Amino acid sequence: MTKQTLSFQAEVAQLLHLVTHSLYSNKEIFLRELISNASDACDKLRFEAINDGGLYENDSELKVKVTFDKDAKTLTITDNGIGMSTQEAIDHLGTIAKSGTKDFVSKLSGDQKADSQLIGQFGVGFYSGFIVADKITVESRRAGMKAEEGVRWISGGAGDFEVENTTRPERGTSVILHLRDDAMDYASAWKVKGIINKYSDHISLPIMMEKEEWKDGELINPSDEQGGRQPGGMVKTGEWETVNKANAIWARAKKDISEEQYNEFYKQISHDFEAPLAHTHNRVEGSTEYTQLLYIPGKAPMDLYNREKSAGVKLYVKRVFIMDDAEALLPTYLRFVKGVVDSSDLPLNVSRELLQESRDVKAIREGCTKRVLGMLEDLAKNDRLPEVAAPTEGVTDVVSPEDKAEAEANAGKYTKFYNEFGAVLKEGLGEDYANKDRLAKLLRFASSTTDTVSVSFADYKARMKDGQEAIYYITADNAAAAKNSPQLEVFKKKGIEVLLMTDRVDEWALNYLQDFDGTPLQSVAKGAVDLGTLQDETEKKAAEEAAETFKPMLAKLKEALKDKAEDVRVTTRLVDSPACLVVQDNGMSTQLARMLKQAGQTAPEVKPVLEVNAEHPLVKKLDGSVHFNDLAHILFDQALLAEGGLPADPAAYVKRVNALLV
Ligand code: ADP
Ligand code: MG
Repeated sequence: MTKQTLSFQAEVAQLLHLVTHSLYSNKEIFLRELISNASDACDKLRFEAINDGGLYENDSELKVKVTFDKDAKTLTITDNGIGMSTQEAIDHLGTIAKSGTKDFVSKLSGDQKADSQLIGQFGVGFYSGFIVADKITVESRRAGMKAEEGVRWISGGAGDFEVENTTRPERGTSVILHLRDDAMDYASAWKVKGIINKYSDHISLPIMMEKEEWKDGELINPSDEQGGRQPGGMVKTGEWETVNKANAIWARAKKDISEEQYNEFYKQISHDFEAPLAHTHNRVEGSTEYTQLLYIPGKAPMDLYNREKSAGVKLYVKRVFIMDDAEALLPTYLRFVKGVVDSSDLPLNVSRELLQESRDVKAIREGCTKRVLGMLEDLAKNDRLPEVAAPTEGVTDVVSPEDKAEAEANAGKYTKFYNEFGAVLKEGLGEDYANKDRLAKLLRFASSTTDTVSVSFADYKARMKDGQEAIYYITADNAAAAKNSPQLEVFKKKGIEVLLMTDRVDEWALNYLQDFDGTPLQSVAKGAVDLGTLQDETEKKAAEEAAETFKPMLAKLKEALKDKAEDVRVTTRLVDSPACLVVQDNGMSTQLARMLKQAGQTAPEVKPVLEVNAEHPLVKKLDGSVHFNDLAHILFDQALLAEGGLPADPAAYVKRVNALLV
């Protein structure tokens, strides 16, 4: 094959522009990305070689070598992993296969800071090489192919790249970075080792560098090895040394791993720039043996709501990488969790299908779920700073400064988590029956008396009025609609708190939760209001009387609205509004029905009940009005508008209102 010049996929070109313009505050991540690719390539080879040992070509010691050449201004990362065929080089280095790439690129704003945050989540991978290089040459040969079937790929990181055929006896890939002038400090063993220590200690392969020694140098200042020697500089010795710890972080003892190392490993597997909120690391022994290292991120990925795609746990079997995104290891509602599970029991050639059926996997999944919920419970417990009692004279502070600092570091983490992932967690009510009660305790809501999403069911219960028998809630499209809903009027008047549920998933999720700790949950928009003992006798009496006197008019209303309303009745739940819509106790809310329709799904036709406020002047005026029919429809449509819906025939509504206005 002769030399071919090909264009990058449009998104890649955009991404490249961004990489070179936004990421220089975080330059050194390129090495982490390239070493991670080298390590992935070795993992892939090991995996394919399970069925075809010949792929090792008598060289099964997988490793990564990092070399540099000051004169040629290059830094090279070489692995003896799976390698790439020509077509693979074109496909993998010229396009981005990740789902949501377009979406991602369209979100970029041009604001460097915001973009580099985003890109951190997305992971620029291979292209991060262009942060430090103005040209990258990749030479590769796929395991099992002939030496003459090697490929050379070259690009300056602008719109296109070249590929040509080359001969490469050794299997695997070399990524040669032609360093920019301002990145020449990466052509230094000292610098490169430092970065490897920081990012890649846990890579389970040896990362090797050629040993150097001082030539003709005299130690001028022993405490300053770098600057203290003159003049010949460092020269290569031809001996190789392993510069990372080369053992998988999760296989090491907890006590030997620093917080910093845990965090770096997280950043590596998640492509997140930010540290995680929490991690849990355990070796589980018993009938199923495995190690888990799981993290809770502080930020949601862009495809969080894609239930098909995201699962963040990698599966290893006895240190051998098996697969990314092993969705069988955690329930879907915990898809935001990142980490690693290393099993000692599963076969190496386990497939996704097999995973679904394995008993061991079931045990792992249960164990991991428990651990994650445990982490969340801890975060929740420490979310608020403990209240410190006023100092008493003569008593010294009992809280140690360390405890205080720790409390401060942990405060607010759960709130942060919940803002990002709360809606996903709620899916668990329907998905994970066994842990329903634990999940319910982790939920937080805004309420009619609290603006922030911070009220737990337990908080709510502790504040319930004497005689209140239910936890009241309302579902709506957004907080404002919920808060101003007519259905809340009587609750406001009586000072009863109502939880505001504004996530799309709420209505569905709450179907699975009938009560919390013995107290029933009651939607204020379903069924008739029965405030029980919270309502006084005179009010009840007035309502009954109103119902009696309004009977003939209610019948007329019902007749006028027979196509729209299931029933029409007098209510005590309204104070300022003339009317509102409610659904039968076990009915689907108009809210949910609307959402399903918007999502293109079939929803059962819900005919709501129109409830009218007998005290309202508009309702009083209805009887005997010549506009009775128009007013009836306006009353209904306005009730619909008030809860964020749209009249079935908006034009007719406008016409009716205008006729009255004139
Ligand atoms: P990711 O690693 O998330 O897939 P990258 O941009 O880092 O994305 O790499 C893109 C693809 O290029 C990889 O998925 C892999 O197929 C290929 N690739 C990159 N580096 C190597 C390598 N050293 N050996 C073999 N394939 C590689
Ligand atoms: Mg990568």
